Amino acid sequence: MAQIIDGKAIAEQMRLQIRDDAKNFKAEYGRAPGLAVVLVGSDPASQIYVRSKIAACEQCEINSFAYRLSTGISTQGLKSFIDQLNARRDVDGILVQLPLPAHLDEREILAQIKPEKDVDGFHTMNAGALFVGEDCLPACTPAGCMELIKTTGEDIAGKHAVVVGRSNIVGKPISMMLLKNDCTVTMCHSRTQALPDMTRQGDILVSAVGKKSMISGEMIKPGAIIIDVGINRGDDGKLCGDVDFDAAKEVASHITPVPGGVGPMTITMLLSNTVKAANRQAIARALAKRAALDFPYKSACRQIVY
Ligand code: NDP
Repeated sequence: MAQIIDGKAIAEQMRLQIRDDAKNFKAEYGRAPGLAVVLVGSDPASQIYVRSKIAACEQCEINSFAYRLSTGISTQGLKSFIDQLNARRDVDGILVQLPLPAHLDEREILAQIKPEKDVDGFHTMNAGALFVGEDCLPACTPAGCMELIKTTGEDIAGKHAVVVGRSNIVGKPISMMLLKNDCTVTMCHSRTQALPDMTRQGDILVSAVGKKSMISGEMIKPGAIIIDVGINRGDDGKLCGDVDFDAAKEVASHITPVPGGVGPMTITMLLSNTVKAANRQAIARALAKRAALDFPYKSACRQIVY
């Protein structure tokens, strides 16, 4: 019988550390880290997500600035608004709640967020840094999945990780993270042939598809770690993942439930990214200030030498 990976408890534990980090930032710089959350329109699900992000900020003593903009705003209007947030010293992270209304150009809007404030990790600069293995603000859901995998205590180096789903926000970034942790990674998608043959090879199996019960017990390698990212509604109206949980828990060594697995980690990683972004920008500003102070001295030295 698999051990259940309790995402809710792990997220709560991490938030204690994030709150301490936010307090330390405040002690050092005289203000709390700040997160701006931008919601366009009045989509009910998005409003719930925004509210839970604001509440999580409060829990971790991070300042939140919530903005609700009218559905009719243009792409240019929203980009100008983001520019105002980009320029603010008290805003360390900017999150534009997705999905945006159809008339808005999502790619253009996300690209407008300064990479150092891109706490969702969706900017191509952050995605690219992840791709080449450099430090970045990582996409939150996959970063949360990696934290959950770490809690199993298993040495994953050299293990075969199979990822089902290749989206830019989950499938691709988690594949890069697993690769960075020395896994051998197979990525599967809707055109993959003989999917069960692939999934059965996974010492680690991550499913990020959005189809209930698509991963059956027979598709799982005995002893595998199962990370179920999918969020679906079962026939009973209850939330469920992509994995047939009851069957999978008989085969796997560790498994995340839905709800209570990956979900609570996503917001936690957003908070973690906000504190990280705040620290990185504060250090960059301090270095820039020092370089500016050094500049007249250095140019004076050059005049003497040459
Ligand atoms: P997308 O719809 O962007 O991507 C789904 C992926 O699944 C695609 O790559 C698609 O392949 C693949 N796929 C679809 N059908 C099959 C199939 N039959 N066999 C194999 N692969 C298939 O979804 P997201 O990545 O945004 O999200 C995936 C799931 O995770 C959703 O349920 C979403 O709600 C959930 N989610 C949960 C989060 C959390 O915090 N817990 C956060 C983000 C997402 P192709 O590329 O070929 O179309």
